[in-house]
Amino acid sequence: MLDSERISYKLSKFRPSSTLELKAIVAERLEQGLPVYDFGLGETKGPLAPHIRDAGARAFQEGQTMYADPAGIPELREAVLRWLGLEGHYGIENVVISAGAKQSLFNIFLAVCNPADCVLFDAAPWVSYQPQAVAAYAFPVMVLPAAGEKNHLKVAPSDLKRNLKMRPHAKLFLLNSPVNPTGQLYAAEEVEALLQVCIEHRIYFVIDRLYWRLVFDGKQYPEPRVDEETKPWLIQVDGLSKNFRRTGGIRIGWTVAPEDVSRAMANLQSHYTSGPAVPTQMAALAAIDCPYDPELCRELERKRDLLVREASALPDIKVWPTEAAFYSFWDVRGLFGKRTPQGTLLASSDDVARYFLTEAGVVTASGTNFMQDGFLRLSFATPDDHIRGGVAALREAIAKLA
Ligand code: PLP
Repeated sequence: MLDSERISYKLSKFRPSSTLELKAIVAERLEQGLPVYDFGLGETKGPLAPHIRDAGARAFQEGQTMYADPAGIPELREAVLRWLGLEGHYGIENVVISAGAKQSLFNIFLAVCNPADCVLFDAAPWVSYQPQAVAAYAFPVMVLPAAGEKNHLKVAPSDLKRNLKMRPHAKLFLLNSPVNPTGQLYAAEEVEALLQVCIEHRIYFVIDRLYWRLVFDGKQYPEPRVDEETKPWLIQVDGLSKNFRRTGGIRIGWTVAPEDVSRAMANLQSHYTSGPAVPTQMAALAAIDCPYDPELCRELERKRDLLVREASALPDIKVWPTEAAFYSFWDVRGLFGKRTPQGTLLASSDDVARYFLTEAGVVTASGTNFMQDGFLRLSFATPDDHIRGGVAALREAIAKLA
């Protein structure tokens, strides 16, 4: 057997999640005593809330460690419906709990796509959508908005229709709002219009709403319409990772979907994970089953304002407005064509991200991870001194460019 044949052709082409790799870069630099201003991985900081921690610990202490329903424990599935305000529309047969929203998304691709079915994403797709679609033998396609950057890469109904005309095998359109990486939020009428196109074309409208509690400027998250017309086509993805502090590693996500799709996903889970760990589900239950404390949202909004204020004086960089989540999207094409003190030409987002890291210790995610060369994503779920110090270090680094 050749070395190249030891791994399947498909998986041999996979790279590790680039955003998770950012965490390793930070750890490595800290170990070497190098400066680090961390805008890399999208992860909230601060202490885990005691009631979440205690619920998980209690579950272990009480021996709640036996096999459970592979779709998730019923109490959590009920709580998910309350958390999303959907208890009047669905029952627990519509809810599947998974090991993070990542697994929820992968379940969807596996449950509804046949080989070569096309799945449509927006123009700056989150890093794992495409690898997951490929792993599920589906065919990922990016919907490029005709308005382009004028509307901050948001997909309009006409963009979706244009793509659907060319793709008779489209199975679903996946909308991520709030958007990772751009920090945009689709308005209620934009969501409704896209949903309507999906219903007309009889494809699923999958909405990844993982950051839905982190909406700024006094706005509310625009809920997709749930009624008899939309329910057969609407799949909502959410989870524990982003709307609370320090919960990404608990690894709980969920879907609310039509019953046949949920059943297919639960059947699948019954064969490959038997559902997520019960103590982590108990921790998730404690998190979402009490009134939501908006302090994290308020803090992130303040950090957004701080970053925008600090970064506004950076030359040759355009900072996009952030409406939700905790990402600032920077257009860095103004730096292309410049040379570093070492003589390297900056010609891509990867070059700029590498220069910012090595010269200034600033960790960012290059836009190429989201199919958008020319941009950088900065997570501002980071301490204030990283924001102030990081922008100051960038100012110096940019001044050194020729
Ligand atoms: N969807 C989006 C838009 C995300 O940003 C992430 C994580 O960064 C995920 C899904 C996966 O979330 P989880 O950590 O719950 O698997």
